[in-house]
Amino acid sequence: MNQSAVPDVSPSTLEVVPLGGLGEFGMNMMAVSWEDTTILIDAGVMFPDPDQLGVDLIIPDLTFVEARRGNVKALVLTHAHEDHIGAVPHVMPLFDGPVYGTAMTLAFVEPKLQEHEIDAGNRLKTVSPRDRVTIGPFTIEFIRVTHSMPDCVALAISTPAGTIVHTGDFKIDQTPLDGEHFDLHRFAELGAQGVLALFADSTNIDRKGFTGSETEVIEGFEELFTSTTGKLVVAAFSSSIYRMQILVDLATQFDRKVAFVGRSIVQNSEIAQRLGFLRVPSGVQIRDSDVGSYASQDVLCLVTGSQGEPQAALSRIAIDDHRFVKLGPDDTVVLSARPIPGNEKAIARTMSHVSRRGADVVTPEMKHVHVSGHGSAEELKLMLSLVRPKYFVPIHGEYRHLSQHARVATRVMNGTDRKVQVLLAQDGDIIQFDENGARIADRAPTGRVLIDVTRVGEVGDEVLRDRRHLAADGVVVAVVAISRHTGALTGDPELVTRGFVVESGQAESLFGAAEHVIADCISESSVEERTDQGLMTEKLRVELRRFFKKRTGRRPLVLPVLMEI
Ligand SMILES: [Zn+2]
Ligand SMILES: [Zn+2]
Repeated sequence: MNQSAVPDVSPSTLEVVPLGGLGEFGMNMMAVSWEDTTILIDAGVMFPDPDQLGVDLIIPDLTFVEARRGNVKALVLTHAHEDHIGAVPHVMPLFDGPVYGTAMTLAFVEPKLQEHEIDAGNRLKTVSPRDRVTIGPFTIEFIRVTHSMPDCVALAISTPAGTIVHTGDFKIDQTPLDGEHFDLHRFAELGAQGVLALFADSTNIDRKGFTGSETEVIEGFEELFTSTTGKLVVAAFSSSIYRMQILVDLATQFDRKVAFVGRSIVQNSEIAQRLGFLRVPSGVQIRDSDVGSYASQDVLCLVTGSQGEPQAALSRIAIDDHRFVKLGPDDTVVLSARPIPGNEKAIARTMSHVSRRGADVVTPEMKHVHVSGHGSAEELKLMLSLVRPKYFVPIHGEYRHLSQHARVATRVMNGTDRKVQVLLAQDGDIIQFDENGARIADRAPTGRVLIDVTRVGEVGDEVLRDRRHLAADGVVVAVVAISRHTGALTGDPELVTRGFVVESGQAESLFGAAEHVIADCISESSVEERTDQGLMTEKLRVELRRFFKKRTGRRPLVLPVLMEI
């Protein structure tokens, strides 16, 4: 890595470097430094586009953190969403200090550390809103905000150059389901005392008005509980704990049992129940394996797969390939999530499969069954009015969102006695604050690192491989031509490799056997599966990876390319 490209910290200067999330959605991460102390805020991942084959996760390039590794004293987390904590296992080994987060946030971090076999020792430090911790020249205060999941905080960091406020993700939910209100008072107090710089979430800057409370979806779901004569199957983000609570409460009221279906939703509901953030009355929850033994009108299934992910519960259920959950004509499938851009096609395909089963499909366009977790324009304006920062840095968004947020900030603050100065920064910009003002002074190396997670068997035992593995084990591209109508193989699959070294004389038999694996995998799949590109690609990827691992002990990056003819 090119560590010489990381400039030294200037003396008596506060330096803030966004390492992810400014110029894209996801992989949020920021470094804040004063002389020889650096703290990191969040360490998130981004999910790949469906056409980034073979890539499971994207994390920020960590060259900057590695170059400053002796200086990094702590990692501070705002909340438990993947785009804020997903890269924690990659960042923790790069420094020795503590990781601060609320109870919920750290409980979501723990299983990730276990998967990566990282022993956190006593490095995970639980904090509560209004707590303060001091790290070298910094004192960090945690401030409660509302969002689409519980226990989220913003940060006020007092530094020798002044106080900076980082909002994390937020909306202003004035009727929070758990009664934990947004700490508007504290933001106002900080504003009155004087804030050097505000770093604020820009995700929904292009939406007018206010986003609305999580509780707004109750009415729509109530109607569905009343009208559905069969099973209710609701697909939501597995971190949507509030959505889970609303559905559990309604199920209790309407005498339905609740089954959590899909690995991440089972895991997250368990964590949330253990911490008291999700309350399920006794006798209401059933196991997914018991769904079949209840009359369908007595069951609500909360499932993974709202983004059409080929391996998730909803995709399996939709093609009638789930072990426990079957769909019939009286059942209703509800999409209680927004499509993440890029996933629209996969979601549409899944919904078509659901329709083939005869079930009803309900989407957020048809009924108010989803509400965003990010504040709209009026909430973002309110944040600016409360904090009244000297400098404003929009964060979390593509460049167009950041620049729109910048324009809004100027409109809000001009005409008040405190004009705001906007710093429109992107990933890698080194923002300096000192007695002469603030500026974008230099560039730090940033970028994206693509991660391929290998799943072994059903338990989801995950093995991580980074670029070094890719360099060592190479790539295998399998070009497979199938019939558009039957999904049957047309002609022999073609295997192309780069950097995947096979002992001489063995290549032919190895690739011959791999072709058989492909042919078997296709012939053993149903026509419905075969004509679903996303599903088939994923299936071939898993099979081929397992095959090469078994035969060669290596884990090349496997990229199946399906061509419909
Ligand atoms: Zn979030
Ligand atoms: Zn986020």
